[in-house]
Amino acid sequence: MGAHILVVEDEEKLARFVELELLHEGYQISKAVNGRDAYRMAMEEDYDLILLDIMLPGLNGLEVLRRLQQDKPVPVILLTARDAVMDKVAGLDAGAVDYITKPFAIEELLARIRVALKLHGKTAVAPASVQEPEEGVFRRGKLMLSEKRHQVTYDGQEITLTNREFQMLRILLENQDIVMARDVLLDRVCGFDYVGETNVVDVYIRFLRSKIDEVFGIKLIQTVRGVGYVIKSENTEKS
Ligand code: CA
Repeated sequence: MGAHILVVEDEEKLARFVELELLHEGYQISKAVNGRDAYRMAMEEDYDLILLDIMLPGLNGLEVLRRLQQDKPVPVILLTARDAVMDKVAGLDAGAVDYITKPFAIEELLARIRVALKLHGKTAVAPASVQEPEEGVFRRGKLMLSEKRHQVTYDGQEITLTNREFQMLRILLENQDIVMARDVLLDRVCGFDYVGETNVVDVYIRFLRSKIDEVFGIKLIQTVRGVGYVIKSENTEKS
């Protein structure tokens, strides 16, 4: 079970969006839409992290933060409005571990959550995969790719890939957490002399997803819209 995060946000759409993204990452989510509920819930339940909007009806986020710091400290990431410099300063002074300015890219929020949990929380998400010392072996969670044996397994179960699918997976595994642009993947998988559309990359990604993600119920390869693809080192699949 992933970390339990309380999302405190009165903008319904934003709260829902964040909730879905966090659920997808394997976190457990509770929501509050005002400061009083947030404070009450945080006192009753042990959350690993609180995402706390500052501009809230009733009790504002900073006030909730101050009370919690006094009564029951818990890691808090503040959601602040753009240009609200004083809020950020006040928030950090009041004990927030981090803040993020709205509007934010969800990837940035997820990254900050991971950092905050790693530094301040319990080890909530399974530890990131450790690169095996054996040369040419790449791991990510239960997935293992061996160049020498030209073999890919998930939890010991062999996955049959074509040569290009294998190469694409290897490049992504070798560069975990680095977004690989489509044209880079294309060059490295198909060669510089490849003549054709870069969407051939999307096709191979789709094949990989159908052979790995769909079969094992994980989200291995992430799409970074307009750029390319990335495999994140954190073991974020739901278990
Ligand atoms: Ca608000």
